[in-house]
Amino acid sequence: MGKAWRLRGRNGRRISGAHETDAANRLPATAASPSDPLSEPFWAAARRHELHMQKCDACGRMAYPPEVACRNCGGAGLGFTPLSGRATLHSWTVLHDPPSPGFRDRLPVILAVVELEEQARLLMSGNLVDIAADALRIGLPLEARFEDVTEDCTLVQFGPAR
Ligand SMILES: [Zn+2]
Repeated sequence: MGKAWRLRGRNGRRISGAHETDAANRLPATAASPSDPLSEPFWAAARRHELHMQKCDACGRMAYPPEVACRNCGGAGLGFTPLSGRATLHSWTVLHDPPSPGFRDRLPVILAVVELEEQARLLMSGNLVDIAADALRIGLPLEARFEDVTEDCTLVQFGPAR
């Protein structure tokens, strides 16, 4: 793992580097922050290993990420509803440099946008796991995978449908 580093400047003064600190190395793999009230039901469901989406009481449109009002009808009654977790691959990118220190031993990281089965164009971003980058193709059947990163934070990721 990385260490704090120190250099001496031309005048002999010590320069402390904050490039890679011990604190950074203790971050969860993705440093997700499930703390805002709007998205808390999503994260609470994830901790139970369920995928829930916000759904408008008036018109039934689902939204991700959660919204304060429905973009389709303006309705403010927005509860959360469970989904199957099934999705197809919409697009992706492959990261060869870690986006944060917790990813260092997970390279390459595949960041994907998936289309959830329950609604056309209901897109969600997440990491792809259990698949090699060269096996990816648009439309690939996927399913949600849940990873308990900390006691309070479970990540929703996607892997190939079993
Ligand atoms: Zn609506």
